[in-house]
Amino acid sequence: MKLDSLAVHAGQKPDPLTGAVSTPVYQTSTYVQDGVGRHKGYEYGRTQNPTREAWESCVAVLEGGSHAVAFASGMAAVTSLLQTLSSGDHVVSSDDLYGGTYRVFEQVFRPLGLDVTYVDTSDSGAVEKALRPRTRYLFVETPSNPLMIVSDLETLCGIAKSRGVRTVVDNTFLSPIFQRPLERGADAVLHSSTKYLNGHSDMIGGILVTSDEELAQRIRFLQNASGGVPGPWDCWLALRGVKTLALRMARHNDNGQRIARFLSEHPRVQRVFYPGLPDHPQYDVSRRQTSGWGGMVACDMGSLDAARRVAESTRLFALAESLGGVESLVCHPATMTHASIPRPIREAKGFGDGLLRFSVGIEDPEDLLDDLHGAFGA
Ligand SMILES: *Cc1c(COP(=O)(O)O)cnc(C)c1O
Repeated sequence: MKLDSLAVHAGQKPDPLTGAVSTPVYQTSTYVQDGVGRHKGYEYGRTQNPTREAWESCVAVLEGGSHAVAFASGMAAVTSLLQTLSSGDHVVSSDDLYGGTYRVFEQVFRPLGLDVTYVDTSDSGAVEKALRPRTRYLFVETPSNPLMIVSDLETLCGIAKSRGVRTVVDNTFLSPIFQRPLERGADAVLHSSTKYLNGHSDMIGGILVTSDEELAQRIRFLQNASGGVPGPWDCWLALRGVKTLALRMARHNDNGQRIARFLSEHPRVQRVFYPGLPDHPQYDVSRRQTSGWGGMVACDMGSLDAARRVAESTRLFALAESLGGVESLVCHPATMTHASIPRPIREAKGFGDGLLRFSVGIEDPEDLLDDLHGAFGA
């Protein structure tokens, strides 16, 4: 089956008791056991939940992995991934990164003895140089947040594999509809399912997918042992949301391209960051490894004042953190999503106070363009 059919059906067999088409919400903390040591495979809600299992099976299939493990947030997924490591281990990570991922590296795991090196992962030579004997993961965000830098997954996974390092890709921005990292050699894929997978801005969740048996078993152990599990309702919302993933991504992609073109032609915009523009530095890599560019677009307005004027003048684009929902959002990363990244580090990357990030929704593109015309004129 094709991805758009799988998004509707994978992992979601009709309920065996009633035939219910929609997977039931198993809102229970525990399960009655038939006898001492005899049960139906379900003992306790943190350990097993059928709604969660349906959600996990669906995402595993969409990413082409054999296991998916769901968490209460994208950050809980990152945390469990890093809990597979020991003091003295080393991670090489993209240097343009979701702010919360940077924060958990620096403020939670570094104090526990984890070493992290940040490199521009669009430069495979720099990645190779950064690898050490105790490097365990190469952590890649592509396209990166917020600068939309694209990393060549096949090249990076090849380098990492030859050195015994596992590659983990944060695929939140493109979803499996446009990018399937496991097929490019990645060992694991991570999502903030809060974003495109669920797509309706009404839950928080994360999920890790892998076909690596050893890693899958360890992550599954940590899901139960550390306990960062999603509740059954959130799994059900995500299951409902993901059914329309292919339709939504197609529209996000069309609208994203329209907005990126508008911005690139606007005299007040200094620079646009969108891999679907032919002058994007990794346009060719992006064309090769992704089948769409999605709805995330960033631009540099040159100053905080100019950025603020736009962000506070839009009417349809709501000023808010987060992304990937059906509604369009605008965000000022330096003061919002990426406030925990020190200014010198940001500015060295060309990510100044004038940066705006748009999560382009699925509204009518004419309405979105009208809104931006108004805001840029203000
Ligand atoms: C939002 C986000 C995360 C963190 O996910 P939460 O669900 O907010 O915990 C991680 N990576 C990326 C790229 C994100 O956009």
